[in-house]
Amino acid sequence: MNPYWSPGIDKLSPYVPGEQPKLAQLVKLNTNENPYAPSPKVIEAIREEAGENLRRYPQADSAELRQVVADYYGLQPDQVFVGNGSDEVLAHTFFALFQQPKPLLFPDISYSFYPVYCGIYNIDYRTIPLRDDFSIGIEDYQLENGGIIFPNPNAPTGRLLALSSIEQLLKANRDSAVVVDEAYIDFGGQSAASLINRYPNLLVVQTLSKSRSLAGLRIGLAMGDVGLIEGLIRVKDSFNSYPMDRIGAKAAIASFKDEDYFQQIRQQIINSRDALTDALTKLGFQVLPSAANFVFATHPGHQAETISAKLREQGVIVRHFKQPRIKEFLRITIGTAEENQRLLEVLQQII
Ligand SMILES: *Cc1c(COP(=O)(O)O)cnc(C)c1O
Repeated sequence: MNPYWSPGIDKLSPYVPGEQPKLAQLVKLNTNENPYAPSPKVIEAIREEAGENLRRYPQADSAELRQVVADYYGLQPDQVFVGNGSDEVLAHTFFALFQQPKPLLFPDISYSFYPVYCGIYNIDYRTIPLRDDFSIGIEDYQLENGGIIFPNPNAPTGRLLALSSIEQLLKANRDSAVVVDEAYIDFGGQSAASLINRYPNLLVVQTLSKSRSLAGLRIGLAMGDVGLIEGLIRVKDSFNSYPMDRIGAKAAIASFKDEDYFQQIRQQIINSRDALTDALTKLGFQVLPSAANFVFATHPGHQAETISAKLREQGVIVRHFKQPRIKEFLRITIGTAEENQRLLEVLQQII
């Protein structure tokens, strides 16, 4: 511990992201990035913005981008919040909504950043075990709570919760905020954004990192009732007035305006996921039904940690978590057709 640190800094347990190795030859299927490039129109918008304008601050309220997102989802701009990656949007959400006397609830197997935010803001939380089939059982959330958060589809399982279940959860928890983290929703689910006008306690968080191939730019958003969004804006403006830079904002706008490209790569990834699920099943894996751009798979005859190490020796990187309940699973990001083929070839040798 450094003597100049504030009290408590030594007690933080920061999030550890999947590694970004420097070797270019690797087949990198460990961090759920999109295997395809961003839309050419996005690249063009970035080039246009990269000039004289950069000496000026960006729009503090990101009005133009919020209007575009609002139009895309049939909402009003004051129902939309944007930030520097959805991790930052989530951090503001935990600060603005979840510092409550009652505990926050989230699944035991879920995005591992949630307990980290609870740590930095001293939020009391309780984890609710997923069912044996790794699905979220909404009846298990009928407890006194100061908020609920879960990814949909869930990470790292890939399992989707139906919109009707989310609506039931909202009805049963009108006194607390329910946050749905839709980082992977474009790969097979229906966004809960359609429920926003009926549930003032619903916040939907999304990112452009996965389905829109923009992990490198850091663009996240939240959608919800005007009151919830106002809370987030208060926190943001007490922290950083300009989280969205000019280039990111223009790129995000261009991405939402190129619907054809978005639909094309989204569908390609869905098709590859279904093909990869079939191929893994033929190799003896059990694969959870996934609505995301990754699959979560276990092999009854081989330890996941060993498979992961052997894949790495052959230049294929996947994600393995050491948590007891999921330590026999591998999370495999859907790559290009060639990358998925390489993965399968190496797996065939191992198994
Ligand atoms: C990737 C991911 C995020 C973070 O996305 P960024 O916008 O890149 O910060 C948030 N939630 C979940 C569940 C994710 O998998």
